[in-house]
Amino acid sequence: MTNQLLIQYFHWYYNENEQLWEKTAKEAVNLSTLGVTGAWLPPAYKATSGGYSVGYDCYDLFDLGEFDQKGSIPTKYGPKAAYLKAVKALKDAGVSTITDMVFNHKAGADELETIKVRKVDPDNRLEFISDVMDIQAWTKFTFPGRKGLYSDFVWDHQCFSGIDRSENPPEDGIFSIQNEYGEGWEEVPSTEYGNYDYLMFNDIEFRNPAVREELKRWGEWYYKTCGMDGFRLDAVKHISADFLNEWLDHMKSTFEREFFVVAENWIIDGVEELDAYLQRTDGRMQLFDSILHHNLYLAGKEGEDYDLSKIFEGTLVAYHPELSVTFVDNHDSQPLQALESYVDFWFRPMAYALILLREQGIPCLFYPDLYGCKYTDKNDEGEDVEVELVALEELPVLCQIRKERAFGLQRDYFDYPSCIGWTREGTDEIPGSGFAVVMSNSNEGFKDMEIGVRHAGQVFIDALGRITDEVVINKEGWAQFACIAGNISVWVRKEG
Ligand code: CA
Repeated sequence: MTNQLLIQYFHWYYNENEQLWEKTAKEAVNLSTLGVTGAWLPPAYKATSGGYSVGYDCYDLFDLGEFDQKGSIPTKYGPKAAYLKAVKALKDAGVSTITDMVFNHKAGADELETIKVRKVDPDNRLEFISDVMDIQAWTKFTFPGRKGLYSDFVWDHQCFSGIDRSENPPEDGIFSIQNEYGEGWEEVPSTEYGNYDYLMFNDIEFRNPAVREELKRWGEWYYKTCGMDGFRLDAVKHISADFLNEWLDHMKSTFEREFFVVAENWIIDGVEELDAYLQRTDGRMQLFDSILHHNLYLAGKEGEDYDLSKIFEGTLVAYHPELSVTFVDNHDSQPLQALESYVDFWFRPMAYALILLREQGIPCLFYPDLYGCKYTDKNDEGEDVEVELVALEELPVLCQIRKERAFGLQRDYFDYPSCIGWTREGTDEIPGSGFAVVMSNSNEGFKDMEIGVRHAGQVFIDALGRITDEVVINKEGWAQFACIAGNISVWVRKEG
């Protein structure tokens, strides 16, 4: 029996001097020891700023740090050879590689084309606010640095449904491109702004069958090149769900294997929309539980005013535990990023317990919580701000408890606004398994909880060391477990 555990193995401000692919290879065994079963690596293909791009402004999907394009041969994370070594090191250590798939858009075109467009109202993209006009725009991708190796497909305006810049006449805005596949946007999951097909850069036109075929060929090439075990799908609310279903089915049937698939569909309230998407994709993918992330953020921000007993209310993991990937933060929610909503430091050990020590959901760690990081960027006012995210010292302990003890029946005691707890009973097959968790966002807390008669007479200690007293389980399998004010204790068997 293995408890799945993922890690997002990067963050927005990862320092390019610290060659991520090399670091991944070096750390693969440590990750496995920690209990990590899958590593989500950042987009590995060449993007517009060459050696500096995080990767979501992708330019050439076939350039994994191999060709002199965008001012650099390697990507921000290193050259292709180092990438392949990293994936192999993970595999050798028993850790799956989950690749980041950016299907929504491309950026950094090689040539201008004269194309027909209509401008749309940015707040209601279904409304045209100009007549059809000819503009010059960057819509042709020939990848001169790659010279047709792996694929000679040329992307032009037939492959894109929208763009946000006219070069001539110079003008910014959202332009709907007129191509052979119809006018206007594709049907996508999000109806924000009328239709949220267009997110950024050159929006890919999936109604063009040649585009769908090229992306399938690319998927085959990518799998044959590195043999990943899963995909993290970027920005799916802006992408035709039918295309993703078709692409995933193609990969599965071509290689006669299952892939682990998790999609980013950023919604912080209204689980109905996530539920609708899961129905639309019919079990092909899991979703990140952005609603739980938001609840964790609120819990950190509101302190003792937050009702902990409701922390899972309305979350995806409460509705679809089998299709949820739970996380505390990611590269978009970290400080100074677009969706900044970083869970406050005091609450992070609790937040991690709420994903790592639960039966429901597959948790995903965030790189800075393991290693820490420092960076500087501008805030909304344009001032430089220095950020330090310290590594969470409790994290290795919590991961180890997940790996070795998070088994058996779960009993919940989410019965008091400022103090909640739960137990896992453990199983006979795994000696020392089972534990009890108590957390409080206010005064010190106590909980009478049942952990099971299998533990009767056994001594339990706080694995986080917040409390040094021992607890003995009574003959009915119950005990009173405690935690100090605004904190958490995880009680495990003394001789575990
Ligand atoms: Ca789109």
